[in-house]
Amino acid sequence: MKLVLKFGGTSVGNGTKISNVCEIVKKVKEDNQVIVVSSALQSTTDELLELAEYAKKGNVNEKIIDEISQRHHGAIKEIIKNNEIQNEVSGIISQLINELKKTVDGVIIVKELSDKTEDKIVSFGERLAVPIISAKLRDMGIESKFFTGGDVGIMTDDNFGNASPMMKVTQHNVKNNLSELIEHTVPVITGFIGETQQGDISTIGRGGSDFSASLIGMCLGVDEIWFMTDVDGLLTANPKIYPTAKTIPQLSYNEAVEMATMGAKGMHARALEPAKDANIPVRIKNTFKPEVDGTLINDEVIVKPDEITKAVASLNGLAMITIAGMNMVGNPGTAGEIFSMLGRNKINIIMISQSISEANITFLIKRENLRKAVSVLQVSLLGKSSVTDVTSDDEVCVVSIVGAGMKGTSGVAAKLFSAISEVNINVKMIAQGSSEQNISFVVQETDLKQTIEAIHKEFKMD
Ligand code: ASP
Ligand code: MG
Repeated sequence: MKLVLKFGGTSVGNGTKISNVCEIVKKVKEDNQVIVVSSALQSTTDELLELAEYAKKGNVNEKIIDEISQRHHGAIKEIIKNNEIQNEVSGIISQLINELKKTVDGVIIVKELSDKTEDKIVSFGERLAVPIISAKLRDMGIESKFFTGGDVGIMTDDNFGNASPMMKVTQHNVKNNLSELIEHTVPVITGFIGETQQGDISTIGRGGSDFSASLIGMCLGVDEIWFMTDVDGLLTANPKIYPTAKTIPQLSYNEAVEMATMGAKGMHARALEPAKDANIPVRIKNTFKPEVDGTLINDEVIVKPDEITKAVASLNGLAMITIAGMNMVGNPGTAGEIFSMLGRNKINIIMISQSISEANITFLIKRENLRKAVSVLQVSLLGKSSVTDVTSDDEVCVVSIVGAGMKGTSGVAAKLFSAISEVNINVKMIAQGSSEQNISFVVQETDLKQTIEAIHKEFKMD
């Protein structure tokens, strides 16, 4: 078989972990062709973003640069035995660290950080990771080469920070660049990174390595894509909130997409899109327990009568905005204006609801965008339209029950909301898409744990 193995940041956290990853690759490679996609070493992406923030204010943060440098050089010393390979890869890392310093110095001088430059800075996480993994594979006698996303042909638009790959061009390039090579060599490719038409580095959104892996898998028509992470698979609930949550053995693409959108294990919302389009099964597996089957995601829709809902997903860090005005009733155009205004300001809307009275529209955004969203809307709507009020609530979260069996089954919503009302939790907003594979609703963030417990119990997900 032909497989893409994607390793997340926690899987490649340090030298020992990188060795473990390479052992997995070696084993899988015995009877398969393997393409490796890797995230940055644990914490590195967050640190790079912090470094960029410092630079923007005109400050250098030597500590972060030293830490990043030591993390990577330390891993090399720890795991690469062959002197020649060790020297070669240390040289590459030193060169990248220098390039990082220069980029940061540029920002410090001008005290200005464009999205483009931020992408360049944050790209160093993955770019520093892949030479080490590839070197360790060579150290173990496995032929390997490392690449950036741009090297293999992932071309994106220039929406830096959240760029979208151009599918057709990318598919053409990746196929041309890698098809032959993978017959004898293990490519180790940076996740998260692409390149614009102008040749600038772009990133495809936090957690984007999953998306990269799925994309590369689609381009090469692989048999399976494995997301190697630090949990056993997708769980019935977030284990940090509900510790006894169970691993779900199988989900259809659509069910898993609903969960990914809801932030399941931090998976990128678009991670499954290419795999689904190309009908390639995805497995979510634990790097530290590779023998466990994990969760299989494929095109099979399995509905058992006692498993109408398969999981309860949740997303925190959100804010809810309500736009109100009596004259909005029967007055077309207000919703259009609101949403295009937010779109122009690159504020993503997570959930929308409008009651039939039409006197208000409520929607959900990330909390970090709240100030900007409220001010943009107030400035453009108050006094100039039928809107009289823009209010917000910044301590909310969204909970969603997911399962293909909900489609066409009556009584699920009744069961859900009576279970919640029994524990006295107030529901602030509800939405159900026409896919009927999820019901999402908003509660106060402090009620999240109790809400999940009540649902898990009611739908017997244990
Ligand atoms: N390193 C990037 C991040 O932390 C991409 C990824 O891990 O998937 O968001
Ligand atoms: Mg990650």
